[in-house]
Amino acid sequence: KRLSAANERIRELEKVLKETNLPEKNEKVRLGVDLGTAYIVLVALGEDDRPLALELEYAEVVRDGLVVDFMGARSIVSRLKRKLEERLDLELTEASIAVPPGTQPGDQKTHKYVVEGAGLDVTEILDEPTAANGVLGITDGAIVDIGGGTTGISILQNGKVVYVADEATGGTHLSLVLAGHFRIPFGEAENMKKDPKKQNEIMGLVRPVVEKMASIVKKHIEGYDVHDIYLVGGTCCLVGIEKVFEDALGIPVSKPKNPFLVTPLGIAKGS
Ligand code: ATP
Repeated sequence: KRLSAANERIRELEKVLKETNLPEKNEKVRLGVDLGTAYIVLVALGEDDRPLALELEYAEVVRDGLVVDFMGARSIVSRLKRKLEERLDLELTEASIAVPPGTQPGDQKTHKYVVEGAGLDVTEILDEPTAANGVLGITDGAIVDIGGGTTGISILQNGKVVYVADEATGGTHLSLVLAGHFRIPFGEAENMKKDPKKQNEIMGLVRPVVEKMASIVKKHIEGYDVHDIYLVGGTCCLVGIEKVFEDALGIPVSKPKNPFLVTPLGIAKGS
């Protein structure tokens, strides 16, 4: 219930994966670029954060929050930008970006150069938990962002981020477990993992890895007064992941609709 406003926004954003809301004449359009370990996502919002269009591509150009393939990243951002421009019938010139918590200034610059290399001025660099919370709007609790290669943990008290950490675990590990178990290529395991019809069976196989993720989170929140956990990031799309976390942590765990889209939406919203 507490995520109903966030869920409403996410539902609107899901619609513009395929459909396009054309901007009104003179409507200011804001763009967010999310450079992830697994996906690059561009979100265009109009006034009052109205979703206009969204483009994304699977990419292995970032590892542990760092850009490892600059040219590859730049060309994907350029391609997605062009697609959005065609859909929206306008030129995009500015974007916000986000970096994982604790990213060094040098690495922030690389993120920025990728996006600038694609012809966009970077107007704001957010940190990922702030971006996610711009959508969730929570004041107290922990946000756990499980992406492809990294898991970010941030603790909020009275609306302020009081602790952040980043761990090298994520959905890629789950896919590797599946690839090993079924003796299939990684890409096939990725697709299998995302198939809603297979997720019950999959949870049975990857549960120990998810429990390990929960135990990592537990270590980080120890010593803080955390009464609620919120799951975001693509890996939290896994059906039942919140239950595994809840059982392991003994704290209520909530997840918004489509946790994959929370941070990209928050980046486009800006602070
Ligand atoms: P990181 O945060 O590590 O830099 P990222 O930003 O690319 O990576 P996300 O886009 O939040 O991370 O999530 C990507 C991960 O989510 C991948 O491992 C992908 O397989 C997984 N994922 C995406 N959709 C689903 C789904 N429906 N079910 C299960 N896992 C999913």
